[in-house]
Amino acid sequence: MSRDIEYRFHQQIYSCKRCSLWQNTKHAVIGEGPLDAQVMIVGQNPGADEDETGRPFVGRSGKYLTKTLAEYGIHREHIYITNIVKHISPKNRKPYPNEIATCLPYLQEQIRIIQPKIIVLLGTSAKETPRVEGIRYFEIIHPSAAMRFTKMREKFRKQIVELSEQIKQL
Ligand code: SF4
Repeated sequence: MSRDIEYRFHQQIYSCKRCSLWQNTKHAVIGEGPLDAQVMIVGQNPGADEDETGRPFVGRSGKYLTKTLAEYGIHREHIYITNIVKHISPKNRKPYPNEIATCLPYLQEQIRIIQPKIIVLLGTSAKETPRVEGIRYFEIIHPSAAMRFTKMREKFRKQIVELSEQIKQL
């Protein structure tokens, strides 16, 4: 994607008012990572730290995710990471189905541009990510749940191990 098209795509999201989530937010959180990444991670929605900085997964659960991935040889700088909706929700609630549906075209465009081989879906809302033939989808417990509950944490680690095995086969 040329810088000009990338700029216009980002501007479209920064000024988006298609659903009500843009209200009372500081930044849209578009996503970050290489545009030729083989692995894409899709989370639920930006949290308070992400809203503050405009960057995805920089809060506690994002740091936990980054650290756990690195322990299994998956480095964040090689991954494109984004969310199913680009603005934080009031009181950080789950985005409603109509908000997800309204925001999905942006994610679809990101998938079309990046053409990842694997898409990792974090948490239940991310399961609404559109399925594209030829891409492997991998569901993982959301890191915020893994941080809170021991059983979830064990499962989360097992899922990351499985993911790292799949990445090695790319
Ligand atoms: S969440 Fe998505 S659709 Fe809603 S205002 Fe933000 S960018 Fe637009």
